[in-house]
Amino acid sequence: MNYILFGPPGAGKGTQAKKIVEKYNVVHLSTGDMFREAKKSDEKISALMAAGKLIPDETVVEMVQKRLKKDDVKNGFLLDGFPRTLNQAKALDEMLKKENIKLDAVFFISIPHEEAIKRIAGRRVCGCGASYHIHFLKSKIEGKCDLCGSDLIQRVDDKEETVMERLTVYDNQTKPLIDYYKTAGLIVNIDGAQDEKNVFEQIAATIKNKK
Ligand code: ADP
Ligand code: AMP
Repeated sequence: MNYILFGPPGAGKGTQAKKIVEKYNVVHLSTGDMFREAKKSDEKISALMAAGKLIPDETVVEMVQKRLKKDDVKNGFLLDGFPRTLNQAKALDEMLKKENIKLDAVFFISIPHEEAIKRIAGRRVCGCGASYHIHFLKSKIEGKCDLCGSDLIQRVDDKEETVMERLTVYDNQTKPLIDYYKTAGLIVNIDGAQDEKNVFEQIAATIKNKK
């Protein structure tokens, strides 16, 4: 099974990805996670991310291309945060065509911008990959990761000024992809404003039908 998780920042893509990976044993390919790793040794990437801007298409496409060549994706993948521009979507189509891989669906997790802002403002993350929310998904001990005990931090690009920029970038460059995937007959609308469990049930029901 090969799926894309699509939606604005804060929609719950990463949260749902964890649940999907656990249940269906597919590989989670988050370009955001890949760039958070890359930015440690690349100032250009770090600056673009901190400003809430997109990384140039060529860089993104090259990175995904390499990743999709690895053997572990053969059992299925879950793309999260990619594609984000029309050029990226077209490049992905080319890659998949070459490898003879078919996309099953694009889950469009939608939430109103006001909700995205609330979610992002309260998101706290751990270096180990765990993610929390100060109201909606609290860690057992405030400010500490349940899994490894490390301090939780706020992502640099989750600061209020940057969030507005990221939502504008989403509206201008990423949202148009909905029509692209609608035309391809791949969009599955998911109401992301529900609680996590209900969002997951809706996703799981679609996966069951596609199998
Ligand atoms: P994305 O990967 O789409 O940017 P995340 O999965 O990181 O979004 O979720 C953003 C924040 O919202 C996180 O702090 C997460 O705990 C919280 N969250 C995710 N899904 C829900 C939900 N259905 N209801 C309330 N809060 C949620
Ligand atoms: P995310 O974790 O998906 O919210 O992504 C965090 C940041 O990583 C984005 O704001 C961009 O700066 C960068 N990024 C992630 N995925 C992409 C992509 N597909 N294209 C361009 N930039 C990306």
